[in-house]
Amino acid sequence: MSQRIAIVGAGQSGLQMALGLQARGYRVTLLSNRTPNQIRAGKVMSSQCMFDRALQTERDLDLNWWEDACPPVEGIGLAVPHPEQAGAKVIDWAARLDRPAQAVDQRLKMPAWMEAFADRGGDLRIVDVGVDELEALTQEHDLVLLAAGKGEIVSRFERDAARSPFSAPQRALALTYVTGMVPRTPFSRVCFNLIPGVGEYFVFPALTLSGPCEIMVFEGIPGGPMDRWSDARTPEAHLEESLRILRTYLPWEAARCDSVALTDANSILSGRFAPTVRKPVLTLPSGRQVFGMADAVVVNDPITGQGSNNAAKCCKVYLDAILAHGDPPFDAAWMTATFERYWQYASNVVTWTNSLLTPPPPHILGLLGAAGQSPALASRIANGFDNPPDFFPWWIDPAACQQLIDQQLAKAA
Ligand SMILES: Cc1cc2nc3c(=O)[nH]c(=O)nc-3n(C[C@H](O)[C@H](O)[C@H](O)COP(=O)(O)OP(=O)(O)OC[C@H]3O[C@@H](n4cnc5c(N)ncnc54)[C@H](O)[C@@H]3O)c2cc1C
Repeated sequence: MSQRIAIVGAGQSGLQMALGLQARGYRVTLLSNRTPNQIRAGKVMSSQCMFDRALQTERDLDLNWWEDACPPVEGIGLAVPHPEQAGAKVIDWAARLDRPAQAVDQRLKMPAWMEAFADRGGDLRIVDVGVDELEALTQEHDLVLLAAGKGEIVSRFERDAARSPFSAPQRALALTYVTGMVPRTPFSRVCFNLIPGVGEYFVFPALTLSGPCEIMVFEGIPGGPMDRWSDARTPEAHLEESLRILRTYLPWEAARCDSVALTDANSILSGRFAPTVRKPVLTLPSGRQVFGMADAVVVNDPITGQGSNNAAKCCKVYLDAILAHGDPPFDAAWMTATFERYWQYASNVVTWTNSLLTPPPPHILGLLGAAGQSPALASRIANGFDNPPDFFPWWIDPAACQQLIDQQLAKAA
């Protein structure tokens, strides 16, 4: 295969694409602004819980190297604290996933994939890519993919205002990786806790550099009581703030944490960003074009845990389109059509994820409550995380939602 393809960004989508194209004989250049060792020795970046369909895209490329070592996430549960009775819950249910999810620390996965790419003869370059480098890459390659996640360079893609309802961050985010947490029984799960007016907390088992762990994810409403991470100046203070939140709002989660410890000194993160959809084609000053992939063009708030899933699925759509393309040039029309194919899927993820960032409408409150009486409904919601288009139309259409609730409650009765 004589086509040359450059990929900027060695994250979930860029690496999956680089290794996928390499296996099919393409000449691939992969550019990363960090070495494998810098990523390994750096801070955690994500909670990266991936559901079965996204994991399958890795299996299809023989990249599921941690499947046996990584603890499975076997289900999803939802709890909402009672507004007046401390320690009581108004909603409390859990359902099994049809197939398990898994979260492999990106500090483990990305360096291993980068090293494999280089060992297999790939051209791995360590460089912080800017516009000049993009110009040079477009001269040397038939296609340049920009998969730089939340890197500064992606702001060169024009924001798609019609597809981006928010212009500011909707949550103050924090991660805390710990060992020693009491597991949930009878099956492991993403324990999702929704604290009205304050934010959300979810926690699930994962695999980090030192072995199995639990990842705590905090989503605080900006300016609220779950947005005090800037006061926590050390990793220990960050852990203490994590536990303060649990003791204050979620005592059943605090009760699991009597013996927790940070997995390592880099196992914490805090930050925020605005969920944004961008136009996928960047035209450089020379007139040549660059094609955006995954978070570079569709970045969601992590509240629904979809970013790595989207990255894997976006990679699959683009990879299939490249393999099917043959010889003609990869022009702007091809790029736009390929992105729109991905958007047919991703638009559902964006709508669903954004809907959880504003106070839930009555039909969603009714749905989440009814799932406590109907295991089938709880299962439907839990398994939607693997394929968010399944949430439509009922997630956004009150009448369709009520019909689903009535059907499922009748069955449960
Ligand atoms: C707090 C938090 C929790 C999350 N939890 C989940 C979850 O549970 N489940 C889930 O599916 N997703 C989750 N995500 C999202 C997920 O991590 C991302 O969506 C996913 O990693 C995006 O993949 P990507 O390939 O687009 O970019 P990334 O994986 O971010 O990779 C981009 C790469 O590009 C490199 N780069 C950036 N700029 C340049 C440049 N100029 N030159 C060269 N290289 C560059 C970066 O160093 C990085 O390695 C979470 C994110 C956050 C912040």
